[in-house]
Amino acid sequence: MSTPHPVILVVNAGSSSVKVSIYVVPDAAHENVDIQPSLAAHGQIEGIGVAPRLVARMADGREVTDQKFPVEQVPDHDAAFRLIRLTLSVALRDTPPVAIGHRVVHGGSDFADAVRIDDAVIAKLQKLVPLAPLHQPHNLTAIRAIRGAAPDLLQVACFDTAFHVGRDELAQLMALPYEYYEQGVRRYGFHGLSYAYIARRLKQVAPDLAEGRVIVAHLGNGASLCAMRGGKSVDSTMGLTALDGMPMGTRCGSIDPGAVLYLAAQGMSTDAIQSMLYGQSGLKGISGISSDMRALLASDSPRAKLAVDYYAYRAAQEIGKLAVTLGGLDALVFTAGVGANSPDIRARICAHLTDLFGISLDPTANGDSCQRVSRDASRVPVLVLPTDEEGMIALSTARILRESGGL
Ligand code: ADP
Repeated sequence: MSTPHPVILVVNAGSSSVKVSIYVVPDAAHENVDIQPSLAAHGQIEGIGVAPRLVARMADGREVTDQKFPVEQVPDHDAAFRLIRLTLSVALRDTPPVAIGHRVVHGGSDFADAVRIDDAVIAKLQKLVPLAPLHQPHNLTAIRAIRGAAPDLLQVACFDTAFHVGRDELAQLMALPYEYYEQGVRRYGFHGLSYAYIARRLKQVAPDLAEGRVIVAHLGNGASLCAMRGGKSVDSTMGLTALDGMPMGTRCGSIDPGAVLYLAAQGMSTDAIQSMLYGQSGLKGISGISSDMRALLASDSPRAKLAVDYYAYRAAQEIGKLAVTLGGLDALVFTAGVGANSPDIRARICAHLTDLFGISLDPTANGDSCQRVSRDASRVPVLVLPTDEEGMIALSTARILRESGGL
């Protein structure tokens, strides 16, 4: 009987959901760092502590389970993680994982790449909690829960910030007294796993463009843009926290900091301001209807239209800003839920860019979300590349597993 291939779990613990994917490491990946582990199964629990629902599927789409649970049974992330793992291990006939790769939102300035997790790493990540209050605590809960249950199992942290480490000081500064910058109050940038994946993908599909000045628009529930030169981050729209930049599903994006002071002076508590800026703003705040782009595009409400118009306007403005940083633009890439799937939003954003950049979309290619959605005559090519943050985590985890002699 042949030995089963090694299995890696990828854990993405969000504020009210936990996603776990199982990847299988093929033989070729034991030698070659560029061979991507293949997805075998995926499970996620949403509505933890409110209305838990577990959905798990094999990679070919076969459903393993789709179940709702009473809140008492899945009150927290710990319980959610155990439940998913149990479900998926049954689906995979209980092959134990050889490593776990975690998505960790904030790695500060210390981590320019994925890292093996030990006590010192956990202590550093704990210190960064105030910079990502909605995400980092859940990332750490998952790490600690696994460490408690299997102390010797290799765990790897893959950071949303790492891709942006090493940018010029100008891209990291905010015009506060300089000692705050030295203390770490600086612009870090996020969605780095997605950008690292897209940089890698662009090199495969359009190596000539990948060498040049590229702006990637990651438009999902969270949204940001990244300016890359030769596949490296030069600047991005997110800052100290994942609130900055363009408006998102529920987050405000850049606002006048004076608005926060004004609200505080009116008696609004820090907690209330925080929950408004992270959870009640952006598309949801302006429309008063939903944070979901599909719902807004389907709505007749004038405020839904206003929210979508503002979103496209601000995204285009940020593209202009990043193009200044790059000193020009050789390609624009759209990715993530909205970016990869919404011809309408791509068209609205690009309409703002026609005069300045000579961008012109091909309506048929854009309507079909083809890989290249611009006309041949477009001065700047526009591409659509679906992202794969979890695949990127699996790749980095396999690399560290290999480096530590585990493959
Ligand atoms: P997350 O940031 O949580 O990973 P996604 O990248 O999956 O989110 O993006 C979710 C967003 O993508 C939602 O606003 C959803 O409405 C939007 N979206 C997905 N498909 C489409 C589509 N065909 N048209 C417009 N928006 C879409």
